[in-house]
Amino acid sequence: MSKPYLKDFTPAELAALPEITPAYRAKQVFAWLHRGVSSAAEMTDLPKALRETLDERYTVSKPTMLRRQISSDGTRKYLWELADGNCVETVLMRYKYGPSVCVSTQAGCRMGCVFCASTKLGLARNLLPSEILDQILFAGLDCGERVSHVVLMGTGEPLDNYDNVRKFLTLVGTDGGLNIGARNISLSTCGLCDRIDRLADEKLQITLSVSLHAPNDTLRQQIMPIARKYPMEWLLRSCARYFEVTGRRVSYEYIMIRGFNDTPACAEELAERLRGQNAHVNLIRLNNIAESPLRPSLPESVREFQRVLTERGITATVRRRLGDDISAACGQLRREQINRL
Ligand code: SAH
Repeated sequence: MSKPYLKDFTPAELAALPEITPAYRAKQVFAWLHRGVSSAAEMTDLPKALRETLDERYTVSKPTMLRRQISSDGTRKYLWELADGNCVETVLMRYKYGPSVCVSTQAGCRMGCVFCASTKLGLARNLLPSEILDQILFAGLDCGERVSHVVLMGTGEPLDNYDNVRKFLTLVGTDGGLNIGARNISLSTCGLCDRIDRLADEKLQITLSVSLHAPNDTLRQQIMPIARKYPMEWLLRSCARYFEVTGRRVSYEYIMIRGFNDTPACAEELAERLRGQNAHVNLIRLNNIAESPLRPSLPESVREFQRVLTERGITATVRRRLGDDISAACGQLRREQINRL
């Protein structure tokens, strides 16, 4: 059996470990871990005996960087290999306010959305809290800047790995570690309603992003199997509740697929569905993926769609494309890697 991962522990949990005495050492251990050391041996201000015991009984995780691509706009994409040979990808985007890191929450995904490359090979396994955190830690160290924002929008469905994602949210916001506040974190979901309700009750200040991608169940069910389990009415009710409970405005992602969901009539229907909600819609032109007949909408359809929404009082923005010259979108590096094996 593999040894427990030290980065899965909060400072309080570290302090409760029998090996870590006196308890104040826990803070030091936590800080070293979240600075990216590769073993306890490197924690130079701790007694040697403690360092040796920690290395004997626990793992200090460090993914291997298999590939790194750097785009002309500064976007960096990483493919990491985890201890058991699974691969995950991470994207670091540079904004005026600082770097934002997009993390994967699962190796693969079992949601089966037809437009998404990440789900084609199914779910390999859930990531540990430490494995989600490591993506930010090591991408940040590689780019040399403090990461200011995190989006849980990489491979995987974060709410399908609820407990580990919840623990990750605690760890990443802890003082002495990466210390990234909830308001700088967005979680994107394909719409697992009961989990959205549970997340709302945690009363965190994170932004909830919901992958809507259609104005009605008929269209949504054609591209997102999860829509058969959770109808849109239920989803929108959970989103409204999320806003009521947390005070955080929900943001909706809408992939624009040519001739499928991008007509002005779709925009009108969407505006009608979202009316009265303090919603924000993010329009995203579909990224082409291999072997898929779906094509991105034409730029003029995107503009028209946005105009119709705005006219009806729904704020809508068009997502800027970053990393266009590298395969930065949605599970493509991991897929290339697995196909090569
Ligand atoms: N499972 C979560 C988070 C991962 S997907 C979710 O569904 O939200 C992150 C975002 O990328 C989602 O909005 C997803 O719909 C979108 N996405 C997936 N494939 C895409 C593609 N080919 N083009 C554009 N966006 C895509």
